[in-house]
Order: sequence, then structure tokens, then C-alpha cells
Amino acid sequence: PGPAGRQTRKNVVAVVGGGLVGALNACFFAKRGFHVEVFETREDIRTAKTVRGRSINLALSLRGRQALKHVGLEDKIVSKGIPMNARMIHSLSGKQSPIPYGRKGQYILSVDRANLNKELLTEAETYPNTKLNFDHKLQDWSSETGLMTFVRSDGSRSQVQADLIVGCDGAFSAVRKQFLRRSRFNYSQTYIPHGYKELTMPPRDGEFAMKPNFLHIWPRNTFMMIALPNMDKTFTCTLFMPFEDFEKITTGDEVIEFFRKHFPDAIPLIGADALRTDYFRLPAQAMVSVKCSPYHIQDRCVLMGDAAHAVVPFYGQGMNAGFEDCIVFDDIMNQFNEDFSSVLPEYSRVRVPDDHAIADLAMYNYVEMRAHVNSKWFLFRKRVDNLLHFLMPKTIIPLYTMVTFTRTRYHEAVQRWHWQQKVINLGLLLGAVGAAAGGSYLLVKNPPNINRILVHAEHIRSKLVSLKTS
Ligand code: FAD
Repeated sequence: PGPAGRQTRKNVVAVVGGGLVGALNACFFAKRGFHVEVFETREDIRTAKTVRGRSINLALSLRGRQALKHVGLEDKIVSKGIPMNARMIHSLSGKQSPIPYGRKGQYILSVDRANLNKELLTEAETYPNTKLNFDHKLQDWSSETGLMTFVRSDGSRSQVQADLIVGCDGAFSAVRKQFLRRSRFNYSQTYIPHGYKELTMPPRDGEFAMKPNFLHIWPRNTFMMIALPNMDKTFTCTLFMPFEDFEKITTGDEVIEFFRKHFPDAIPLIGADALRTDYFRLPAQAMVSVKCSPYHIQDRCVLMGDAAHAVVPFYGQGMNAGFEDCIVFDDIMNQFNEDFSSVLPEYSRVRVPDDHAIADLAMYNYVEMRAHVNSKWFLFRKRVDNLLHFLMPKTIIPLYTMVTFTRTRYHEAVQRWHWQQKVINLGLLLGAVGAAAGGSYLLVKNPPNINRILVHAEHIRSKLVSLKTS
């Protein structure tokens, strides 16, 4: 196992957290021949009666797919996903307008979170050098010795030593607690004012109640609802709204009234009776954005996935970024011959700017998804970007395309986007000035009927005003 000539041989890798990123990471380390121990708080979700977790389904895109490919799981997961080629915007009147995600043939996939997690755990278990320890909650660990203390649901404790600890224990990481005690560790966390609630839209006459190959969005400026399709022909609808608005709705009738006002087309599709009860099934869930740096302690511990960078879910990149962490780490392992004293600092150096960039982009999209998509100017600019991308595919690449359909480093995508914005806006301005100059020249050459011009000018002005104010 592993390339010959490795300088430091780390035998035992403890992956804390057997969620999406932890289970995938176990495969990456096992493939390299390390002895991998996964410790997960929950019982085995493959045999558990109830699985409680976060969103029911999620959008998988290129970065995540590439990581799955690395461990031979891409085809299996893709075959159980539903392609979404475009957003489908639902207006208040019920009109539906598609906005494609990219070029023809480019799509994101709606995948079932629980199934994905189960497949990843099963894959990890196929390696004889991997052991999965469920019902093991990390309570504490020592950054000096690498000794970890776990508690089980019956109250028993155990201590385990590892050469490398990989913290994949999510947004409220217990591994990260040790980092917080150290000097020069930067940390910030922000809760957004919005929470979310999930509702199920059942099939209609055995078929999807809405067109399945879309991510449906009901943008309502200060709040929004989205819906992603599932393999069983249901949709999972997620309502994102400020907590104070959730709290204003206290009865079934108020739920219906709220939906009648803001999402009337969704009432018959979800079902009024189901809406009345399902809305109150669970409290609204909070969303947190966590940024920190560095991601490592010496050659002993590294954070990946949400433990390193929880992002708000509006770019559909949290899991994708976490999966990409595994590829980036793996590449650096090759580069530095698995010498952890070099690999870990290099991983922090390379990955922090990218994960911070996607955290910022996700925050930006938090506004774009619920508000900007209602603006004609925004839609016009999207069309301009897409047209320019079509004409000059290597020069102008829409931000969404770079983030979702390429592995361009996140921070480079942001830099390039800022540059493109400047160039395109300048081009639009020059185009407008050119058109005005050309018009003036023609006017001087052939003096026309001034009244007709004034009527046209007024028409153009009012169009521009309506574009800017919408
Ligand atoms: P988690 O999935 O949180 O897993 C952490 C695991 O660690 C859990 O199994 C937990 O039980 C375990 N654990 C926790 N503490 C301990 C401990 N002390 N000891 C042992 N084990 C422990 N991302 C996308 O890419 N696309 C999307 O469309 C998308 N949609 C989302 C929608 C919503 C509403 C939300 C909230 C998130 C969404 N995400 C999406 C983000 C995605 O869910 C996360 O980025 C992803 O789950 C991160 O995986 P993880 O393994 O790092 O963390």
C-alpha cells in the first residue's frame, strides 16, 4: 500500500464523522492502504429505523461527481439521481419560466442524501483495512498525543489512539474544539436570519406533480420556496424564510392563507390537508456559515467538509466542496509522498482561500435566488453572459458554470467573475454610447421629423426605467 519511499508512515487514520464527507474520505484513505477507523455518533443508518438528518435531497454537481468517480461510485450514484437542466421560476400568477443552468446537456443532479450516505458507508466497508464504529461520539481528544475519548449511548467510554485524526464531524465539529484553544486559529460563525422547513409534494396519478427535470423556485424577495425531485416521483419542497415569519404562522388555516397569498399554485400540488399538518411536523431549522483557518494542527489533525467550512445551502455546493476537499487532499498526498508534516500545512494553504470563497458565494446567492431572479435587469444580464459564453466559450464563462460545471478553483472563479463583470459592463456601456453616436451622425446627415424622434426617445426611456426598477 502507498507509494514506496514515503517519509512518515501513518498507520492509523481516525475519521471522526461517518456522514457524507467522512464516509467518502474513509474510502480515499483506505485506497491508499492506511488502516482506517471511522467513528460516528449515530447508529448505522443502513439498519436504523429512523434517520434524522438535514435536507432530504441535495444537488450533486461536477466537483462531487469527480470525487465519487475517484472511489468508483460515480455511475452508481448518478443512476439514482434526477437530472435538473434548469431552474423553473414560478411567478405569483403561476406562470413558469425556465432559466437553464448552463449549455445544453449541462445539468445538476438531485440525489437522496440518506441513500448517498448509505452507499458511501457500504463502499468504505468493502476495504478490509477499514472499520466503521457506530454509536461512538467523540467527546474530547488531545492534540499532544492524538488520544481520543468516545462515549456510547449506554454511557460507556473508550479511548483510541490515532496517528492522524480527520475531523469530518460537521458544522458543530467536536474535533474543531481543540483548534479553538490554540493561538492564531481564526474562527467565525454566522447564523442567517432565515430558517427552513421541508414539505413533501406527492405524485399525481402516479407521475411527478410538476416537470421533474428542473429545480423549481418560487422567489418572493424576502423568502422563497424551492423543490427538488425524488426517485419516488415526489418533490421535496423547502421553504426558506426568516424565523420571525415562521413564528407568525401558528394554525393550519394560517398556513393555507400564507400559501394562498404567496404560493397559490403549490396548494393543490402539496394538498391543503397535508400542508395544514406537515408544516408543523418539525420546527424550522437554522442555517450557519462557519469559516476558519488553518485547517490543520501540526501533522496530527485536519478538518474537512462542514467541520472546516459550513456554508449556507444556496449555491448547492456544501457537499460538493466537502467532496472536493478529499480530492485536493489526495493530490497533495501524492505531491508530498504522504509526509503529513508537509501535506497538512500545504492543504491549509491551498484549500482555505477556496473554501472561504465558496462560503462567500453561497451568502451572495442567498439574496440572488430569492430576490435577483425577479429582476428583469438580472435576467437580461444572465442572457448577455450566456450569449457571450456561446460566442467566446473560453473567454467569458458565467460564474454559475465555473462553480458548478468545472473544477476551477473557487477563489479563481470569483476573481475571474469580477473581471468579466467589468469587461461586460464596459462593453454594454460602449455599445450604448456607440449606438447613440451613430444615431446622432445619421440625424445630422438626414434631419428627420423631430416629433417622431421624441416619441421614440420617450418610449426607450420608459423601457429603461422599467428595466432598472424591476
Ligand atoms: P455532515 O453531513 O453534517 O456529517 C457529519 C457527521 O458527523 C454526521 O454523521 C454526525 O452524526 C457525525 N458527528 C457529529 N459530531 C460527532 C462526534 N462528536 N463524534 C462522532 N461523529 C460525529 N450541499 C450540496 O452540495 N448541495 C446541496 O444541494 C445542498 N443542499 C443543502 C440543503 C440544506 C437544507 C442544508 C442544510 C445543507 C445542504 N447542503 C448541500 C450542504 C450539505 O448538507 C453539507 O455540506 C454536507 O452534509 C457536509 O457533509 P459532512 O460530512 O461534512 O457533514
